[in-house]
Amino acid sequence: DIYGTERRNSKGINLDVLSQWLPLKQQLDQHMQSSWTGAPLVNGKRLSGESRAVMCPYALSHQVGEVIWATAEQTHGAIDQLAAAFPAWNATPVDTRAAVLERTADLLEQHMPELMALCTREAGKSLQDGIDEVREAVDFCRYYALQARQRFALITLPGPTGESNELYLQGRGVFACISPWNFPLAIFLGQVSAALVTGNTVVAKPAEQTSLLAVRCVELMFEAGLPSNALALLPGDGAQVGSVITSDPRITGVAFTGSTQTAHLINRALAARDSAIAPMVAETGGQNAMLVDSTALPEQVVKDVVHSAFTSAGQRCSALRVLYIQEDIAPRVMELLKGAMAELHVGDPFSRATDVGPVIDADAREGLLKHIETMKVADRLIAETPLPEGLDGHFVAPVAFRLDSIKQLDREHFGPVLHVITWRNDTLDKVIDEINATGFGLTLGIHSRNEDTALHIDRRVRIGNVYINRNQIGAVVGVQPFGGMGLSGTGPKAGGPHYLLRFVTERTRTINT
Ligand code: NAD
Repeated sequence: DIYGTERRNSKGINLDVLSQWLPLKQQLDQHMQSSWTGAPLVNGKRLSGESRAVMCPYALSHQVGEVIWATAEQTHGAIDQLAAAFPAWNATPVDTRAAVLERTADLLEQHMPELMALCTREAGKSLQDGIDEVREAVDFCRYYALQARQRFALITLPGPTGESNELYLQGRGVFACISPWNFPLAIFLGQVSAALVTGNTVVAKPAEQTSLLAVRCVELMFEAGLPSNALALLPGDGAQVGSVITSDPRITGVAFTGSTQTAHLINRALAARDSAIAPMVAETGGQNAMLVDSTALPEQVVKDVVHSAFTSAGQRCSALRVLYIQEDIAPRVMELLKGAMAELHVGDPFSRATDVGPVIDADAREGLLKHIETMKVADRLIAETPLPEGLDGHFVAPVAFRLDSIKQLDREHFGPVLHVITWRNDTLDKVIDEINATGFGLTLGIHSRNEDTALHIDRRVRIGNVYINRNQIGAVVGVQPFGGMGLSGTGPKAGGPHYLLRFVTERTRTINT
C-alpha cells in the first residue's frame, strides 16, 4: 500500500479488499450452482443435435452442463451463410465494428462472476486465473477496437498532378478462428474480435474441452450488437469439424492457437486447397527455458520459477519448462525451491487457499504421469509437492526433475513439471545454442544482475518474448505483445500493434481526376 491508506482489521485483513471480495464471492457461489447448455450458433440460432455432458475437471461426478457438437453438414451450411454475409459486414464502418467490441468488453465486465464461475467449473481455473482470463478478454476487445480505428484510416499517397492515390484496408472474407482450452475466453475472443473488427465474417471453432465458455462469449457479442450473420460458432471435434473448416475453399485466412502438431496439419490442409492463398496466424507450443547466472538473487529466482512453472498448473504456453542454473548458485536455489514447492497447495480451484488446481482432463493427466514416472524411474527427482488425500479430479502435483540436456525432452510437457539443468560459466554460449536448437522460440527468462550478460543472452537467443529478472508468464495486451518464432508460431504478436494486419487485405485506388 504505497499511499498508506489501507484499512486493516485487528487480524491484519485488508478491509478494502474484503469489502470487494465478499459481494463477488456471493455472486460466484450462486453461479457455481448453475448449469449451462451450448450448441452450434449459426445466423444467431442454436442448431440441434446430440447433446454430450460437460464434466467438471476437479469434481468428476459434477456435470457442468451439456453441449451439442456441430456436424460436417452444419459446418458447410455455416460457411455458406458467412460467405453471403461478408460484403455487408465488410462495408460496415470501422467505428461501428469497433463499438461492438467495446460493448462486448463492457458486458464481459458485467458478467464477470458468471464467467469466472464457468472458467472454474469447465476449465478448472483458479479464482485468480478466472479474473485474469476475463480481464485479458476485455483488454483484447478494447485494444483491437482502438487499433482498428487507427489502422483503417484512409492513407492518401503522393502522385502526379491530376491523379489521386489512396491506400486502404479491407477484410479478407470468411476467417476461421481455432482456439485452445487453456485460455478459453481470452484467446478465443482475442482471435474472434481481431477477425471481426477488420471486416471479416468469422467461423469460430473452440477447443472441445471449453465449448460452453465460447458459447457464452458469442451470446454476449450478439447482445453487444454484433449482427447474427457475422459470426458462427461451431463446437466440435478438431479432427472432424476443424478439418472440414480448414479444407473449405471459401476460408480466406486462419487464426490458430494450439499445438505445433495441429498447426502443421492446418498448414497442409490450407496448402492442399486449389483456392485463394490463405494467410495463417499460428501461435503454438514452447520448450521455455530460464537462464540463471551466479549474480542472480536466489530468493527472487525461486519466487519467479515457482510462479512461471506452476501457475495455472503449468498449463500456459509461456510456462517455464527448463531451468538452467549456474553451478555456484545451484545448491542455494535448489534448497529454496524444495522449500517453496513443499508449501504449495494443490486442490479445489474455487478455494482461495489453492495455488495449483487440476489439469484439464484425464488424457492430459495420463500423459503427464507417464513422463513423471519415467523420470522417477531414472532417479531424477528433485522435489514434489504433496498431493492431499481425497481429491476427486485430474490433479497432478508440481514436480521438479534433474536433466542433463534439454535434448532429452522429446516434446512439450504441458503441466506442472519443471526440469533443472546446471551449467558452468564457460558454457553459456553452448547453453544458448542448445536452447535455440530445440527450434521452439516462445518465452525465455533471464536472471542476472550483470546487465552485459543479460543483454548478451537476449541478443543471441531466437525467442519471441524475453523476460529479464522477473517471471515469464502473464503477457499484458498492448504492453508485452505476445508470440513466438520457429516451431512456436508465425507472428504477428497477439495484443501488439501489427496483429490486425494479418487479417486484412490492402487496396490501392488510383483516379485520373
Ligand atoms: P490442440 O492443437 O490440440 O487444439 C487446438 C485447437 O485445434 C482445438 O480447437 C482443436 O479442436 C483444434 N484442432 C485439432 N485438430 C485439428 C485439425 N486437424 N484441424 C483443425 N483444427 C484442429 O491444442 P490444445 O491442447 O487445445 O492447446 C494446448 C497447446 O496450445 C499447447 O501446445 C500450448 O503451448 C499451445 N498454446 C500456445 C499459445 C501461444 O500463444 N503460443 C497459447 C496457448 C496455448
